[in-house]
Amino acid sequence: MSLRRPDAPKAIVFGMGNLLRRPEWMVFLPAITLAAFWLGGEAVLILTAIGMPLVFAAAGAFYPHQGGIQTASGLSLHSHILERLDEILREAPYTGCMTACLVVQFDGAEKLLDRHGRGAQMTVLTRSAERICAVLRDGDSVARLEGGGFAIALSPVRRLDTESVVQLAARLQTAVAAPIEIDAVRLYVTCSIGFCLSDRGHSAQALLEAAQVAADEARRNGPGALRAFEPTMARNRADHDAMRAALESALDSGQIRAHFQPQISTETGAITGFEALARWYHPSNGLIGPAIFLPMIESTGLSERLGEVILQHALSALVHWDKLGLDIPHIAVNFSSAELCNPRLADKLKWELDRFDMNPNRLNIEVLENVVAATDNDTIVTNIAALARLGCGIDLDDFGTGHASITSIRRFAIRRIKIDRSFVTRVDEDRSQQEMLSAILSMAERLGLATLAEGVETPAEHAILAQLGCQDVQGFGIARPMPIEETVDWIKSQHAKIAKLPNIKHSAPKAK
Ligand code: C2E
Ligand code: CA
Ligand code: CA
Repeated sequence: MSLRRPDAPKAIVFGMGNLLRRPEWMVFLPAITLAAFWLGGEAVLILTAIGMPLVFAAAGAFYPHQGGIQTASGLSLHSHILERLDEILREAPYTGCMTACLVVQFDGAEKLLDRHGRGAQMTVLTRSAERICAVLRDGDSVARLEGGGFAIALSPVRRLDTESVVQLAARLQTAVAAPIEIDAVRLYVTCSIGFCLSDRGHSAQALLEAAQVAADEARRNGPGALRAFEPTMARNRADHDAMRAALESALDSGQIRAHFQPQISTETGAITGFEALARWYHPSNGLIGPAIFLPMIESTGLSERLGEVILQHALSALVHWDKLGLDIPHIAVNFSSAELCNPRLADKLKWELDRFDMNPNRLNIEVLENVVAATDNDTIVTNIAALARLGCGIDLDDFGTGHASITSIRRFAIRRIKIDRSFVTRVDEDRSQQEMLSAILSMAERLGLATLAEGVETPAEHAILAQLGCQDVQGFGIARPMPIEETVDWIKSQHAKIAKLPNIKHSAPKAK
């Protein structure tokens, strides 16, 4: 980064101002007063004795520093940081000094609030603020940000580079990371930090925004990440904002809706349920599958909104089939870990089921095995237990890929495992696949769990799964996920297929 040469006369004025602002100059006051008496007599002595302190005061020597670190409880507001940055940036062409703005964001702030409540959150913020202030120098300024983090404006210095700010940020992270004790509980908090060094043409607002963008990027890569602002980050953020707007409008306007894939019994062929799977009817790009848009939904924080839309479509589908007298016992809906982290999930779901006048036992909640396996999150554990208590069935999705322990299967009151497609593919031909499936099925039987095999593509796979004792199957071999309008014909044709089965049995020649 190139520093602009200071404009000479103005630089001298600013330089004098800065020198006068230093309280150390006060030690020369007696000497200056004495010299004034020798040179000008008593009148000049009186003038100097009264005038000099006024000159120092005007230059700001009696204020601790222009930025000044407030105490933790009295941290200044975001507008103060802007004022401070603005002041430094305005003086920069004359002083040749630089600054940097840092934004500190706490990792897992929502989790902290959910688990320990607002009181603990405030204590963490106050202690962290004290620790941050202890690391900073006198002239640095700190302010609380609305989102719960902190913004820091460094006091101006002649040389400042990325390396030195990285070192300072690392010291701040270490200070914040020390455990905080609240009511005999030790809390470990980490923070991610983004920063931006001042450059020519930066406004205070732009500098703070750049640090905020870098902090958001750091938080996405956290915990404990550190990022210096890069212009591509701002473009990414703009893309991200545009993407979020597009997805939000797709969800609100009905472009994103559910397709339904049937699940049938291997024993009777009866339909045991449908799984609702999200699809995006994009006006220009056609039908888009969740593999493409789910990551965007997650990264834009819209998982809960998607969950609401699909749940509504799923319950409406059940109502529709019920009205037509079609016997569909269950609908299954996929719940992401973001949705499962909502402490109000069970209430929300109950309200939605009541609104549709639907018995909770007709709703199966599909939870990915890796979510169950990895979670030490109390909210997820409590939520799944509450949903099971409500009467919903809990299906463990992609079983066999996520290493859930038997203890967690028990803890989460799982009703059924959905055996992942990787164990099902070519099970009719591959001996080791068969052995693996048999082992899974006998474990499920011992644990009293129902079973469903996913991704059944061929009649041969279907047949061997029935032979091995898997209760339900789902896959392209039975039907692909379809829009609601196509389900009624499919259900009727499946009913017709089943109706024929007893006739076949009846028409079989009787043994003599
Ligand atoms: P999943 O829950 O394991 O759903 C099964 C996926 O396998 C679906 O893909 C389905 O179309 C596909 N599939 C079904 N039978 C077969 C088969 O015989 N062969 C093959 N090759 N594939 C089969 P889809 O619809 O693309 O969904 C992918 C994943 O996206 C789902 O996997 C689920 O994890 C997620 N997903 C879909 N809809 C939602 C939703 O509304 N919310 C959430 N959170 N996740 C969803
Ligand atoms: Ca699923
Ligand atoms: Ca699955």
